[in-house]
Amino acid sequence: MTIREKIEKTLDNAEKLNGELNSFLSIERDYATKRADELENDSEEKSLRGVAIAVKDNICTKDLQTTCGSYILNNYKAHYDATAVKKLNDAGAVIVGKTNMDEFAMGSSNESSAFGTVKNPWDRTRVPGGSSGGSAVAVASGVVRASLGSETGGSVRQPASLCGIVGLKPTYGRISRFGLVAFASSLDQIGIFGQTSKDAADVLGVTAGRDANDSTTADVAVPDYAATLDNDIKGKKIGVPRALFGEGLDDEIRHAVEKSIDNYKSLGAEIVDVELPYAKYGIAVYYIIATAEASSNLARFDGVRYGFRAEDAHELREMYRKTREEGFGAEVKRRIMLGTYVLSSGYYDAYYSKAQKVRALVKKDYEKAFNTCDAILTPTSPSVAFKIGEKSDDPLAMYLSDIYTVSANLAGIPGISVPCGLSSEGLPIGTQLLGNFWSEDVLLNLANIYEKEFPLGAKPKIFAE
Ligand code: GLN
Repeated sequence: MTIREKIEKTLDNAEKLNGELNSFLSIERDYATKRADELENDSEEKSLRGVAIAVKDNICTKDLQTTCGSYILNNYKAHYDATAVKKLNDAGAVIVGKTNMDEFAMGSSNESSAFGTVKNPWDRTRVPGGSSGGSAVAVASGVVRASLGSETGGSVRQPASLCGIVGLKPTYGRISRFGLVAFASSLDQIGIFGQTSKDAADVLGVTAGRDANDSTTADVAVPDYAATLDNDIKGKKIGVPRALFGEGLDDEIRHAVEKSIDNYKSLGAEIVDVELPYAKYGIAVYYIIATAEASSNLARFDGVRYGFRAEDAHELREMYRKTREEGFGAEVKRRIMLGTYVLSSGYYDAYYSKAQKVRALVKKDYEKAFNTCDAILTPTSPSVAFKIGEKSDDPLAMYLSDIYTVSANLAGIPGISVPCGLSSEGLPIGTQLLGNFWSEDVLLNLANIYEKEFPLGAKPKIFAE
């Protein structure tokens, strides 16, 4: 098959399934077929030559829409490619579309998108997780091999778990955030979904590295991730923080994750106990810091510089107010209000500075734990994919979906979710591995060996042929 034929098949599949799943906000046929033709005529060796990739709609793509799942950026087009997108293009990948997401990446179910909910291909009455649900479903439904998402508190690992695929959140500073629309800058990181760990490794290898346009990227060598995927994991030490396997964890998840621990043992890994005493404050700390940063970052959407502007406003402040009133959805407004509150004088010390101090302690927990192990294993999500609508009126219940993921973002360490089993209803369950700074190679190796030895052995009901 030529690259053009392959890409056309991908686009056909995306179009065919989108009516049922709503995972793409745009399917870019003209753009992608033109790229395919260019690549066909270019004989240069490229690592991702002709590989179709889907990109979350909060990552800027020159000439294509970037809506962040929000009405306020309806029809907004960026003037430049995000560094990660540029690197993918340079490596020969073909962006086939932009994916649906919770508005401004705020959510755990994709229900806060201004453009409709994404459906889980394992059961269309259920959520795919969020906020990168569209990118997760584009991969889980077999349309693309890999996609880009973003992570502020679990938005790649949690939907990966709920959709039965691999989801990787790299170390903070590993992939450039240039061109990723900011939600909470000290937590945000581009993440990767793959059908397999190999797919994630291939995309990470291309997108990682120092970028002059993002001063938080680190000048740390990028290893050849694919080269160490099959390394023997005998003797690798996996830490298990048992104290976190308590309240709120669904029994079926507990069983599946315990089984994954036994499976790792059978592969020669050594299981050790670790303690993360401050992890229990993760959600509280995250929702103070994330909302504080969001309230500041989202101030730029004022109807002047980007996207939508409200009509019939008679003076400047009225225009700002109306634009933001009409352009933002309920969850975004809730977070801007919370963030403004915790930053306000009088509350700043009680909430924001306190949260920053606890954040430092969460990070110390991990630094200490990684003195005794190579990776830490926990569930990814406390439950399997829930029903659409089940938690949408209860923000606190929704926020608890991130209980196992947020602390990695607070600490800045990498994490991966690997499928480890199915519930009695046939819904996927993920196990999470967290690693020390810059140890994505270790995580990908552990994940790859697991998926080869203990494959899920099932596919979603809706899957592209
Ligand atoms: N679900 C979390 C939130 O709502 C995490 C989001 C994310 O990682 N972008 O903030």
